[in-house]
Parts: sequence; structure tokens; C-alpha cells
Amino acid sequence: MFDYLIVGAGYAGSVLAERLARGSGKKVLIIDRRNHIAGNAFDHYDEAGILVHKYGPHIFHTNSADVFNYLSIFTEWRPYEHRVQASVDGQLVPIPINLDTINRLYGLNLSSFELQEWFASVAEPRDRIRTSEDVVVSKVGRELYEKFFRGYTRKQWGLDPSELDSSVIARVPTRTNRDDRYFTDTYQAMPLRGYTRMFENMLDHPNIKIMLKTDYADIEDWVPHRELIYTGPVDEFFSFSYGKLPYRSLAFKHQTFDVPVFQPAPVVNYPNEHPYTRVTEFKYLTGQEHSKTSVVYEHPCDGGDPYYPVPRPENTEIYKKYQVLAEATPDVHFVGRLATYKYYNMDQVVAQALTLYARLSGTQRAEAAKVRMARVKPVATIPAKSGKNGREKSRDWRLGSGD
Ligand code: FAD
Ligand code: UDP
Repeated sequence: MFDYLIVGAGYAGSVLAERLARGSGKKVLIIDRRNHIAGNAFDHYDEAGILVHKYGPHIFHTNSADVFNYLSIFTEWRPYEHRVQASVDGQLVPIPINLDTINRLYGLNLSSFELQEWFASVAEPRDRIRTSEDVVVSKVGRELYEKFFRGYTRKQWGLDPSELDSSVIARVPTRTNRDDRYFTDTYQAMPLRGYTRMFENMLDHPNIKIMLKTDYADIEDWVPHRELIYTGPVDEFFSFSYGKLPYRSLAFKHQTFDVPVFQPAPVVNYPNEHPYTRVTEFKYLTGQEHSKTSVVYEHPCDGGDPYYPVPRPENTEIYKKYQVLAEATPDVHFVGRLATYKYYNMDQVVAQALTLYARLSGTQRAEAAKVRMARVKPVATIPAKSGKNGREKSRDWRLGSGD
């Protein structure tokens, strides 16, 4: 008999497994339908020996000391501030739009103060900021909206920005200074040995059993457990009884080039050309040195793995119905990006999981994040193979071709 069956070994499931096992002595079985842990944050060494993120670029950033300190028990960090360029009018310019973006795009030499006035002169005031279109057009006007946001958003979501909640594009700020960082959070860093290593450390506890390539539907009737923690899509759990909740998907095209550097920035966004939205070159993120380089192209699509909940009013209405069902389902706890249908970053999911743990264990939220032990010893017990040119390979999760 397990105290908890946890469906999904991403952040939501793994944080709860770790806390319940190490913090409360519970016996936990964590399952995932995939053949690896770490959910969408999973990284691994590719055929060339380069550390890549299988499900697209994952950059850790948070303002929460609690979340950062909690994860720091399981990993050391590599300081990393993310930078992105956008391909617009035949040039690569910084995104978020900043002073340099505008000066380079229009051949100007504005100061920060002059740029504020320039934005004010092109902005289209709106009474209410409701949609993602409103967010941009009301700040920087229609022309920049069309150059940087309209095409990218239509590709990414299959919807016009006018059909999406303001919160989607509001993730990307506009600046009048020269700060070209993508994020401004207090803590910005990458796990030194990768995300998967961090998850291995989290789940390395005698009370935690892991079953991969295991779908909840196939085991729900025969694994005895007291309570269930579910981190998969909430509509699927309830057999789509209120209809399908839309999730946007991506096809990831990974490629390795026989050159040390492929592009001049970690990520290049393509708002207006190509079917893909962005290209990420992983060595910038990880700091790995290698004579070759690996990149990933993101092709948005419908119908694949569910990656993004789609924030818009009609979907929120459907989700609210599932939420009522979820709250009325005893001994089942819904947590994470898919189960609560929220466009959450990694740190927000960790925070959400720690909050649920505080509730389950009857502790204060601040207490819940405290791991009562010295730093967990790194998983050096898993023999690391050294790849040709590579730093090291994590044996267990290294995927062969046709994974
Ligand atoms: P997931 O990681 O999706 O884990 C859920 C797991 O449950 C999956 O492994 C799935 O296989 C499993 N599962 C589902 N249903 C079942 C079932 N029935 N049976 C068994 N297993 C099941 N966040 C950031 O902070 N920074 C970034 O730079 C960033 N970049 C991103 C880029 C992309 C392309 C994407 C898609 C997301 C990005 N995110 C980023 C968000 C981040 O991936 C999520 O916040 C985080 O992974 C969510 O964790 P989770 O545990 O809720 O879900
Ligand atoms: N976006 C855009 N152009 C860009 C970057 C972002 O239009 O160059 C919009 C787009 O709708 C995207 C959203 O802003 O989905 C959020 O961007 P973010 O980089 O946060 O997306 P994520 O990393 O979550 O895919």
C-alpha cells in the first residue's frame, strides 16, 4: 500500500514525491507515461555528446528565495542571464524591445527619455487592456506590434493576439533602457549538471519508487494507494466530460552542426519568416564546450503532446467546470501546469507544489520548503560516461535513437 500515487514525474510530481517522502516519511509511487523523469524540463546528452533540452529551452528564473533555496538542495547552479534576438526587417535586434532595438531598427539615436516620448507618439491608447493585442498596441503602437508580435503569436498559438488573454504577451516587457535580458528576476541560473540530474537527486530516496512508461489508466485499478496526486491534463482525468480543453503543442526539430557556433545569440525568434518560431543553441545555456553545436527548432502545432494551456476566456470557462469536479473528488489532488490549466513557469509549479505539500502535511508554507538535511549528496553513484568531446553522460536517461 502506497500512501501516495503520483501521476507525472515533472516538477509538480517530483517536488511532492520528495517532500512527502523526505519531509513526512510517506511511501510514494511516482509514475510517468514517458520513459524518463523531469517532465518537460528533461535534458540529456545527444548523439554528439551535447547537453540538450528535449522539450525546448528551459531557463530557470525566479523571484522566490524559497523556491530557489529549495531547489539548491538538489543542484549547484551556473549563473546565466538569458538573452534573445528577433529577426526583423533583415536584422537581428534585441527582444524584449529596448532602446537599442528601436535605434537600430529605425536608424535613430534616441535617449531613454526620447524613446518614452516616441512610444507615446505611436501608441494607440485603449480604455481596457483585455487581449494580448491591447497590451502591445497600447504601449508601442501597431507597427512594432506587427513586426515583433502578431506573426509570432499567430504561429505559436494558431490564434490572433486579439483572441488571447493579455497575460500571454504581457510576459514580454517593453523597455526604454538598454537592458537586453529576457528576464529580470532576482535568481537566474541553470542547474550546473542539468535538470535531469537535479530531478535524480530529488527522487533519490528509499521511500520513493519510480515507474516509467506507465500510464495512469493502465494501473489505477491495481496499485493500492491512499491518496492520488495528479499532474496530467485535467480534462483527460475526467474523460473529457465537459469537452476537450485546448492545449497547444510543438514539434521539436533537433539538429547538430559541425561548427562550434551556429547563431549569435542563445535564442533567435522569427516572428515573420519560417514555419518555426524560434531557434535555441544549447551551449549558450549550459556553458558546455564542444567542437560541434546542437540547436532546436520549435514548430507549433495542434494535437501533439499538450505543452501550453491556451489562456482565453472560453477556455477558462471550461476549466472552471473541471475545477469544480476536481475540488469535489476526494483524496485526489490536482497540481501543475496541465492539471490546473495555468501557463506556469517552472518556479511557479515548484511554488504550487510546495503550497500543496504544506496543506497535506499541515505545516506552514515557509516550513514546507525546508529540507531537513544537509545538501543531498550528488548522484555520483550513477556512473557517468564521458562522451567524445562531451562533459559527461547521465547513463540512465540517455536516449538512444527511436526513443
Ligand atoms: P510536466 O513537466 O508537463 O509534467 C507532467 C508529467 O506528467 C509529464 O512528464 C507527463 O508525461 C506525465 N503524465 C501526464 N499524464 C499522465 C498519465 N495519464 N500517466 C502517466 N504520466 C502522465 N518554464 C520556465 O520556467 N522557463 C522556461 O524557459 C520554460 N521554457 C519552456 C519551454 C517550452 C517549450 C515548454 C513547453 C515549457 C517551458 N516552461 C518553462 C514551462 C515548464 O516546462 C513547466 O512549467 C513545467 O515543466 C511544468 O511542470 P509540471 O510538472 O506541471 O508538468
Ligand atoms: N511573443 C511574441 N514575439 C516574441 C516573443 C514572444 O509575439 O518575439 C509572444 C508570443 O505570443 C509568446 C508570448 O509572447 O507565446 C510569450 O513569450 P515567451 O517567450 O514567454 O514564451 P514561452 O517561452 O513560454 O514559449
